[in-house]
Amino acid sequence: MPLLTETPFLSIIVPIYNEAGNIEPLYDRVIAVMTDYGRSFEMILVNDGSRDQSEAELMTIAAKDRRIKVINFRRNYGQTAALMGGFNAARGEIVVPMDGDLQNDPADIPLLVEKLQEGYAMVSGWRKDRKDNRLMRTLPSGIANWLISWSSGVNLHDHGCTLKAYRSDVIANLRLYGEMHRFIAIYVKWYGGTITEIPVRHHPRIVGQSKYGINRIIKVILDLAVVKFLEDFDTKPIYVFGVMGIISILMSIFGFFLAMYQRIFEGISLIQTPLPLFAAITFLVGLVCILLGLLAEIMVRTYYESQNKRTYLVRNTINIEPEM
Ligand code: UDP
Ligand code: MG
Repeated sequence: MPLLTETPFLSIIVPIYNEAGNIEPLYDRVIAVMTDYGRSFEMILVNDGSRDQSEAELMTIAAKDRRIKVINFRRNYGQTAALMGGFNAARGEIVVPMDGDLQNDPADIPLLVEKLQEGYAMVSGWRKDRKDNRLMRTLPSGIANWLISWSSGVNLHDHGCTLKAYRSDVIANLRLYGEMHRFIAIYVKWYGGTITEIPVRHHPRIVGQSKYGINRIIKVILDLAVVKFLEDFDTKPIYVFGVMGIISILMSIFGFFLAMYQRIFEGISLIQTPLPLFAAITFLVGLVCILLGLLAEIMVRTYYESQNKRTYLVRNTINIEPEM
């Protein structure tokens, strides 16, 4: 049995929320696959505030195998937080997250790892033959994948598949909020890492039920708006707010002169047309937008300067010590 101080080759991260009945079979499947594969590993199960027997089941497997590590959250924080908890504790060179409900197949882990070792920073699993409800799940997810791929320029079939493999350095600085584990590929792209995908197996959920409903679509769209905004304007928010503000003020000026023209040449009184109101509102909106942009600029400076953060990442240096 490997000692705790030895760093494993692979860290498998599993978020667990009310997965009683799935934990032991998952453990058995992972052990079977990894014994066959023959590389050292740790399996970090993050209990995200389960209210069923999950914790007791986790204790049972952790008691008999020291490669099994358990993090119990105080309450339910969501799948993204659970994954982050696992990433932060992972010590392997390669990190593979997967679902705890046996919908992902541990047998795909070696395939993802082998692909990663061809030189990628990330290999995404693609549930090519997905076993979920078509209307409620597969269809919205298809649209989401198209949207995420299109807006980020990272073309993957299945951003939402938890089963993926990462080189540990690419996730070392990852900070995920909300439901953003679907966008890790975008962060990897920011990091300058290469990404590829391979098809993985997918099974229907047999024990327990899905933790998500249709409202996840709205969250994905809002999260995507945040990521897209950060991607394009991370250090220059005034470009977004300023452009919107200027467009609004130009519309205001246009409305104002049109009203004047109608007043002088067509004899239309200023109280007969909505144009003065239009001009006033668009002027105010424009002004507020520009002020918001200035405020955001201050926040960007506070963010980077208070923590001595760089606005760039260095891959390596030659004949010069890296600053950090
Ligand atoms: N999960 C979690 N916290 C939550 C919701 C889900 O840790 O608040 C875990 C859950 O136990 C499972 C994985 O995230 O291991 C995926 O959840 P689920 O199977 O419900 O999602 P679906 O497969 O339906 O997309
Ligand atoms: Mg599932």
